[in-house]
Amino acid sequence: MESVAVQSAIVALFATSVPELIMLDTRPLLIATDFPPLERSALDTLQVNLGYLCNMSCVHCHVNAGPTRTELMTRDVIEQVLAVVDKFDIGTLDLTGGAPEMNPEFRYLVTEASKRGVNVIDRCNLTVTLEPGQEDLIEFLARHRVIITASLPCYLEENVEQQRGKGAYSDSIKVLQRLNDIGYGRLPELQLNLVYNPVGPVLPPAQEMLKADYDRELGERFGIVFNQLFTITNMPISRFGAVLLAKGNFDDYMDLLRTSYSADNVSGVMCRTLISVDWQGNLYDCDFNQMLATPMQLADKPLTSLRDLLEQNNVEGLPIAVGDHCYGCTAGQGSSCGGALGD
Ligand code: SF4
Ligand code: SF4
Repeated sequence: MESVAVQSAIVALFATSVPELIMLDTRPLLIATDFPPLERSALDTLQVNLGYLCNMSCVHCHVNAGPTRTELMTRDVIEQVLAVVDKFDIGTLDLTGGAPEMNPEFRYLVTEASKRGVNVIDRCNLTVTLEPGQEDLIEFLARHRVIITASLPCYLEENVEQQRGKGAYSDSIKVLQRLNDIGYGRLPELQLNLVYNPVGPVLPPAQEMLKADYDRELGERFGIVFNQLFTITNMPISRFGAVLLAKGNFDDYMDLLRTSYSADNVSGVMCRTLISVDWQGNLYDCDFNQMLATPMQLADKPLTSLRDLLEQNNVEGLPIAVGDHCYGCTAGQGSSCGGALGD
């Protein structure tokens, strides 16, 4: 990874909070593509966005989540999610947001999914467990053997706080220690994974090397242990894309992604086995396409939904909507919501 000084400089550059940046949209620059066509294989994972309500308001948030957002998946849509889980024998339910735990239906969905033996992943920002009303959240997650995948963009306080706000680092450390106390990261059935993404227009460092750095820093300083570190490449979309455009870095970053293309990563891209669901129950080939408002082509419709999916018996062989941002998934060691590809 970059030196602390270089990384801090990059953080400062990319932490520029300029409201008009949000207006700079990279979508028109990404649609025409020479990325190889992709087809779906068997469906294994539903990645479900439970809404945009969050206890934090991070500078880099792709969905502009925050405490005042009101978009939340309803019980009716959650029942459709469960119907898809049953019909397609879904192996993994990957819950995201906002802070998915703040959706009042979160515990119902987790309870029902765990009854069915589905692996449930909670993409947790850690600090949500300190919110009023969430005092028993960690125990609830442990009881249902929920896999916690938590974003900790750096093991250094300064960088975390510039991205996530003052106090976020010490709160995150406190919560990681509590998770360890209850057995997360220590017991085989309580998996605790951390996510790293670079703060600037660079590829992530080698996942294994960075894991060793996190192990050392978090272990020696705070006694924290965890299972896996997932390094994720920043996509040239949403707020990150807008910052690239504003700083004149978009073309250079796209060149970096293209020139780092590795054909070996194509077969492992996550959209081949995953469907992304937004809070209203609309479907996308991946979370990034959801952010780009590029729907999954399931039927001859502009937007497809869980109800449309329930009318299908199989999605294998369906085409995936690719764009130039897909080079972000195949660059270097590859990238997915589960980190580097092939690991
Ligand atoms: S914690 Fe996650 S969802 Fe919430 S504002 Fe930050 S990046 Fe967005
Ligand atoms: S950006 Fe989405 S559609 Fe493109 S390769 Fe990655 S996961 Fe697949």
